[in-house]
Amino acid sequence: MSIKAITGEELIEQKNFAQKVCSMTHAYEQKPLAFVHSYGCQQNVTDGEKIKGMLEEMGFGFTDDKTRADFILFNTCAVRENAVERVFGNIGALKQLKKKNSKLIIAVCGCMVQQSETALRLKKKFPFVDIIFGTHVLHTFPEILCKCIFENRNICEIPDMDGVIAEGIPVKRESAFKASVPIMYGCNNFCTYCVVPFVRGRERSRLAGDVISEVASLVEKGYKDILLLGQNVNSYGKGTDVDFPELLRRLDGLEGEFRIQFMTSHPKDCTERLIDIIADSKKICHHIHLPVQSGSDRILKLMNRHYDCAHYLNLVDYARKKIPDLNLTTDIIVGFPGETREDFEATLGLMKRVCFDSAFTFIFSPRSGTKAAAMEDPIPAEEKGRWFRELLEVQGECGSRSYQRYIGQTVRVLCEGKGRTSDKYYNGKSRQNIIVDFNGDISDIGKFVDVKITQALNWALIGEKIN
Ligand code: SAH
Ligand code: SF4
Repeated sequence: MSIKAITGEELIEQKNFAQKVCSMTHAYEQKPLAFVHSYGCQQNVTDGEKIKGMLEEMGFGFTDDKTRADFILFNTCAVRENAVERVFGNIGALKQLKKKNSKLIIAVCGCMVQQSETALRLKKKFPFVDIIFGTHVLHTFPEILCKCIFENRNICEIPDMDGVIAEGIPVKRESAFKASVPIMYGCNNFCTYCVVPFVRGRERSRLAGDVISEVASLVEKGYKDILLLGQNVNSYGKGTDVDFPELLRRLDGLEGEFRIQFMTSHPKDCTERLIDIIADSKKICHHIHLPVQSGSDRILKLMNRHYDCAHYLNLVDYARKKIPDLNLTTDIIVGFPGETREDFEATLGLMKRVCFDSAFTFIFSPRSGTKAAAMEDPIPAEEKGRWFRELLEVQGECGSRSYQRYIGQTVRVLCEGKGRTSDKYYNGKSRQNIIVDFNGDISDIGKFVDVKITQALNWALIGEKIN
């Protein structure tokens, strides 16, 4: 299987399908309305923004109210079982809407659909779903919708191909000042617990020129917070002359006041050079999300992570030395198959040693097709639950200690909206990507504001605006 770049002609073909759908939507007295919901990670959210961009081009308006929608789409996630079950529950609830309005079109796409047995279960259980399509054919959505409407039939497009790169798809962004920009798609790492390489295909990077011109045009339009996305951004541009640190360096050189964030960094590919470039930059956030997953070398090996704790700790020490105000966050999996109390205590030890600013913690969820799903897993669910709570307690203490260091400091905040701790405040993020509430007003939204920190919670800072 090879990676395919979608050509200009193929995109023009899709524009023709979009035009045909327009001939139908324009016949409506009022624009037909679409409800689009993306589950899961940021990557999925950006796919949802592309789908909305294509829908807009096809003459749709949008609604947050499913009962008013003419088109409903769930863009699904498959990373953990509970995400899949939630989607199944929500699709089931649409049956009543379809009964009331037979013209309603229901579509399901995304990672969950890309797994053949889940797609089959979906089709069997919910025959009223009109459209099902996988992650690799997102750019053909106009064609899929067109066939469904004009040939009046159910569509299921889940080709067993590898991923593509499609430039030039319209994007309808949720925010006027925050934008996510995928720099690569797919993953080659095959961590033994993870379904992503199976549902997102092999790793492929966009051309540096395409990424840089997209970011430059966003900044020109007034975007101030650019989030670069990839499952393992550190392996961006392999085999080309622009690797990830170089891409960051070039983006940092663009004119204008804006910030660059990125996720996710894999510790095996995170280098001191990358840390040096962040430290020397003007615009790159002082935040690294560096998922460690476990503090036991034995479990890291079983997870196929290709690093050990010593490597991880060296990276953390170097990063904290070079970027003293670094916000370091992580992901942890509890209860990987065969994990013992000793392994778990090693994770607790690592968490205490590193004292992460925050951590996303998950209980292992077996995903069909992955190696870990076939491993023996003797630890009872209740025991995993107890470990999970223990982990949260340790993390809670670290989080609350770490933010105290900001009291009395002034941080530059990009204001995003109403306060998180109280309605009387406005809220934004610092360059460290930490949530900050402050005494702002509505005119601050979308702007940078200096805030003197007066209080620290374990998940946010509170402060006063400085003129
Ligand atoms: N590409 C990123 C994130 C992938 S998914 C990375 O490599 O870090 C986000 C997080 O979900 C992972 O970091 C992991 O902690 C968690 N996760 C993935 N698969 C899981 C599974 N089967 N069970 C529990 N947690 C899982
Ligand atoms: Fe999954 Fe590992 Fe790839 Fe992240 S790096 S997406 S955890 S396989």
